[in-house]
Amino acid sequence: MIKTIYGTKDILPFEISKWVFLENMVREYFKRFNYKEIRTPVFEETILFSRGIGESTDIVSKEMYTFLDRSNTSITLKPEMTASVVRSVLEHSLDKQQILSKLFYISPMFRQERPQAGRLRQFHQFGAEAIGVNSPLLDAEMIVLSYQILKQIGLQKLTVKINSLGTPEERSKYKDSLKTYLEIHLSSLSEDSKKRFYTNILRIFDSKDGGDIEVMKNAPLLIDHLGTGSTEQFETVKSILSELNIPLEVDPKLVRGLDYYTHTTFEILSESVGAQSALLGGGRYDLLAEQIGDRRVPGVGFAAGLERILLACENEKLFAPESDKIDLYLIRLDKELLVEVGLIANRLRAEGLIVEFDYADRSVKAQMREANKLNSSHSLFIGGEEYKDGKLLLKNMNDGDQVVINKDEIHKILNVIKG
Ligand code: AMP
Repeated sequence: MIKTIYGTKDILPFEISKWVFLENMVREYFKRFNYKEIRTPVFEETILFSRGIGESTDIVSKEMYTFLDRSNTSITLKPEMTASVVRSVLEHSLDKQQILSKLFYISPMFRQERPQAGRLRQFHQFGAEAIGVNSPLLDAEMIVLSYQILKQIGLQKLTVKINSLGTPEERSKYKDSLKTYLEIHLSSLSEDSKKRFYTNILRIFDSKDGGDIEVMKNAPLLIDHLGTGSTEQFETVKSILSELNIPLEVDPKLVRGLDYYTHTTFEILSESVGAQSALLGGGRYDLLAEQIGDRRVPGVGFAAGLERILLACENEKLFAPESDKIDLYLIRLDKELLVEVGLIANRLRAEGLIVEFDYADRSVKAQMREANKLNSSHSLFIGGEEYKDGKLLLKNMNDGDQVVINKDEIHKILNVIKG
C-alpha cells in the first residue's frame, strides 16, 4: 500500500463542504475590502526565501523543502507567500502601475516541521498583502480584516496580540542591549537558545523552555527602545483598533519568526486549538522588497492557517453535520433500458437538476435503497408497462406523491421538482 507522506493529508469528500464554506467566507471578505486574488507558482528559486525570510530563521534553516532540479537550480516549495507576492509585484511592476496593490491568496504551503495537531508539512494558508503604502491605517486594516473573518466564522475564544518591532536601526540597538543582558545569563539558557543568542537573538523570546522563560522575564524590551516615530505609528495603529472595538493585548515579547518585519507585528490566537494556538500572524515589512528586488516598497500583510482554523471550529462545534441532497434518482426497471436512462439523465442535468442513477446493474430494490441513501428528493421509474405506453412515474420521496409524466414531456419533471 502506498500511503500519503508523513505530515500530509488527503482532504476527503465528506470534509470538503467545510473547506468550501471557509474559502467562500474568506473570498467574500477580501472582496468587501477590495483585495484581488493572486496565484504564484508552488516552487520558486531558493534564494527568494533564504534572502527574503532570512537565513537564521527556523523556516529557512531547517524547514524548507529544497532540492536541485535537473538543471541543477536550487528550488524550494513555498513555505509562505509574502516573499512570492512581493517578488511578483516587483517582477510585474505592479507597484509602478498603482500606488497600492491590495492582494490576497489561498494556497498550499510546505514546511518540514514535526507534525502534530494543527501542524502539517503541507498545509493551507489564506492571507493578504497590501504593498506600496506605509500607513498605520493599513496595519490596522489587516488586523480588522483577519479578526472579522474569524468572528464571522463564529470563533469565540480569540486573543489579538500586537507589538512593534520598530525600525532596523532601533532593533539593532536594542539587540545590543539584549545581548549585554543575556551574556550574564548565557549559562542558564537552553542549548537551542544559546545557539539563537548568536544567530537570531530575538527568537529566544519564543522559547518554551522553563529556564529560558525565567531569564527572559527580566530582559529589556524592544518596545522600550522605540524612537518617537515608531512609537507614534504604533500608538496610531492601536487607537484605530480600539475605536473599532478590537480587543487588543500588547505583547512586547511577540517577535515572530521572520526577519523581514518592521513596526507592527500581530497574531490572533485561539484557546480552542491546544499547543499550536496561533491561527494567524502578520505584520509590516517595509524592507523586504529591497532584500529580494531592486527597490524599496513598503508592505503589510497576514497569513492564516486553514487547518488550524478548521480545528478551532471543530472544537467550538461550529459546523452542523452536512446533509447532501440530490434532486432525482433514476430507477431502471428493465435492464435493457441502460442507454435510455443515460439520455434522460443527460437531458435533465442539462436543465440544471442534480441527477444520479445506477451504473452497476443492480436490482430495483438496491436502486431504491441508493435513492434514499443519497437523499434524493424524487425518483423516476423508467421501464415496465408504463414505459411501453410512453409514460414515466415520478415519485416524491418525502410524501410519496406520484405523478405520471409523458416520455416526450420530460421538461415537466423540472416543473414538478423545482415547483
Ligand atoms: P507563519 O507564516 O509561520 O506566521 O504562520 C501563519 C499561520 O499559518 C499560523 O498561525 C498557522 O495557522 C499556519 N501554519 C504555520 N505553519 C503551519 C504548519 N506547519 N501546519 C499548519 N498550519 C501552519
